[in-house]
Amino acid sequence: PTYVPAAERYERMAFRRCGASGLQLPLLSLGLWQNFGAVDALHNSRAMVHTAFDLGITHFDLANNYGPPYGSAESTFGQILQDDLRPFRDELIISSKAGYDMWPGPYGIGGSRKYLIASIDQSLKRTGLEYFDIFYSHCPDPSTPMEETMGALDTIVRSGKALYVGISSYSAEQTEYAARVLREMGTPLLIHQPRYNIFDRRLEQEGLLDTLRREKIGAIVFSPLEQGVLTDKYLKGVPADSRAARSEQIYLSENDLQQEKIDKAQQLNDIAQARGQSLAQMALAWVLRDDAVTSAIIGASKVSQIEDSVSALQNLSFSAEELTRIDAIVQA
Ligand code: NDP
Repeated sequence: PTYVPAAERYERMAFRRCGASGLQLPLLSLGLWQNFGAVDALHNSRAMVHTAFDLGITHFDLANNYGPPYGSAESTFGQILQDDLRPFRDELIISSKAGYDMWPGPYGIGGSRKYLIASIDQSLKRTGLEYFDIFYSHCPDPSTPMEETMGALDTIVRSGKALYVGISSYSAEQTEYAARVLREMGTPLLIHQPRYNIFDRRLEQEGLLDTLRREKIGAIVFSPLEQGVLTDKYLKGVPADSRAARSEQIYLSENDLQQEKIDKAQQLNDIAQARGQSLAQMALAWVLRDDAVTSAIIGASKVSQIEDSVSALQNLSFSAEELTRIDAIVQA
């Protein structure tokens, strides 16, 4: 059966300009870090991509090592693209990254020109794409000169392998330096991808958001739901189908689900309910309350979660009192 996207998709989503660039991104983007690997059911991955696009989510975020196994999320997305989304390529913003460990040896990790160029070539093959819209240095590599890593990103744009470049998890200081190096090379730094949510405020505390605002660089934040902890799913124990219960994944542990944190989620859930929202919806609205944040990248394991999350757009504003109460719960 041929996939036909919903005709109303652009009425269902709002877009924000990414820094001072010409590019607009949807307020919510879909990340394929989890649940799109070769270990996951293709029909479910496909249904989630369709639902996202039907709801106006035009941006899909990948990295070389998303899976498991590494590389397989790009292959899954490539398959869906080839089967269903090929006619809509020019309506899509597709990103990938290199930086964390990908293949054995010194050229499969870090920020060297050798690794970044080899990795984007592999990512293009796996996805079947001619170019990525955005390509990132996934993490800073202090042992490689910034000029080399940014030079590789500049080369990637000049050789037509990506249209824009970004960085992820760089500090405010590293970001300022990276932006300057790129500017001098004539390739502007489009975007930064930091971690940010109601519980994790380092983006604000460490001055990075101010730097991005000043430098007119967009921000697309990851794990806005604290991997699911900022939803109602863990309030009454650990459901069998949740990320925390999955044996092959190691990024959400019992340590992230301590009773103190669940108690806070419960109190935040009460505020969300009073706003007529799910906790997931309020958590997404919260990261988007400042338009220096261009987009929030959600993860999902089910179609219904994407639908629930996109409904956050129905109430994005907070009263000063709500914000104060949220802060008090987190800081208690
Ligand atoms: P989230 O914080 O959005 O967590 C997603 C998880 O929350 C889902 O898998 C699901 O958990 C649960 N969930 C999502 N929506 C709902 C809902 N409406 N109701 C109830 N539960 C819900 O983001 P991720 O941590 O998955 O990260 C998102 C993306 O960010 C990644 O895919 C990746 O693209 C990017 N990222 C980038 C990083 C970087 O270094 N640059 C690092 C990490 C992520 P469950 O599976 O239990 O159902």
